[in-house]
Amino acid sequence: MSNIYKEPAPYHKGEANPFESMLIRFDQAAQIYNLDKGLYNYLKHPVKQVIVSIPVQMDNGNLEVFEGYRVIHDNILGPSKGGIRYAPDVDIEEVKALASWMTWKCAIANLPFGGAKGGIKCDPKKLSVGELEKLTRRYTANMLEIFGPDIDIPAPDMNTDEQVMAWIMDTYSMHKRKTVTGVVTGKPVIIGGSRGRREATGRGVMIATLAACGKINIEPAGMEVAVQGFGNVGSVSAKLLFEKGAKIVAISDVTGGFYNKDGIDIPAAIEFVKAHKTLEGSDFGTPITNEELLEIDCKVLIPAAKEDQINADNASRIKATLIVEGANGPTKAEADEILRSREIMVIPDILANSGGVIVSYFEWVQDRLGYFWEEEDVNGRLNRMMTEAFDAVYFTALKYNSTLRLAAYIYAIDKVSQVLKLRGIYG
Ligand code: GLU
Repeated sequence: MSNIYKEPAPYHKGEANPFESMLIRFDQAAQIYNLDKGLYNYLKHPVKQVIVSIPVQMDNGNLEVFEGYRVIHDNILGPSKGGIRYAPDVDIEEVKALASWMTWKCAIANLPFGGAKGGIKCDPKKLSVGELEKLTRRYTANMLEIFGPDIDIPAPDMNTDEQVMAWIMDTYSMHKRKTVTGVVTGKPVIIGGSRGRREATGRGVMIATLAACGKINIEPAGMEVAVQGFGNVGSVSAKLLFEKGAKIVAISDVTGGFYNKDGIDIPAAIEFVKAHKTLEGSDFGTPITNEELLEIDCKVLIPAAKEDQINADNASRIKATLIVEGANGPTKAEADEILRSREIMVIPDILANSGGVIVSYFEWVQDRLGYFWEEEDVNGRLNRMMTEAFDAVYFTALKYNSTLRLAAYIYAIDKVSQVLKLRGIYG
């Protein structure tokens, strides 16, 4: 076995929110890297945090006011990039954490982007299509000075999709009096989206999983995989690994999940969800909860649902040899040391789920050129960039004798701080 587990990582407990959880890893990596104190302070804080009120005339005639956020963590490597999520519990602390994760993610993937994230506190399931459109358009109008193809480029995230991106593009374009496709990525292909973008995050998870399997001698054919979350990331990861011969023994969504030791027919599960919106009411195996799924007997665990799923309590019961973080922040910092001491390899979120933003970059490039690539070009380039990113992080882990998570942060901090030093501080 390689020595990437042997580092005596400091064990922190009691982080209160996702931003602090991110900072714990950033602090550990900055310490190992010996990051200059001034640069540390620069990179710790986001450069801009915007909170807007979004009034929406609801279908029932009532006026409701929603809260919207956009946090620019930095624009050192280029314009800031990152998705927008719609959720009832999203807040500025979560968006701050997600924005800084985008900085590290883009740096690791070698993209010319800084990091950002946005969100609207709302329950999208309770909104009609019309209300969702009004909410999106007014949010975009309120962010007119923030967004821009050379400034800050949003994309889909939790509960936002191609249609939402199309509304953002149209609203921005109406104000600018010209069509500006490059202001947002993750658009439908017919209005400047990229082929392969929809599947890109899941495809990247599959690529990262296979790259890791190669390092720890797991044969993908027949390996047991459990996938938490059956949205865009989880279902595509499951489908592509299923196509590689893996046995997907457990899947779940917000309604719960199923375990089947003989393997689940993933294309059938995808068809079911297409028809019924959730896995509820299907019969793909023994019903299990989302918590039980994490502790299932399997080789590979892919948490692809939401934050803070793996914690100090359940980390000791996880049976997988390899965890591939499809979601952003599925592992609390308090679980890192437990997983490391148990020699469970973790491909961290900022590496594992970077396929989405990599193809967003391709979309932005294609929009700027006005020339669109074939899907096999997109997938081929994604494969190459993900593999390069994986290798870079893997060799950083060997160099610093650290976990892959800390190595990913160290690699990103190295790149971003080098560019920051070259650009210098203006003022
Ligand atoms: N929301 C995705 C992420 O967390 C994609 C961001 C993007 O494409 O800009 O990586």
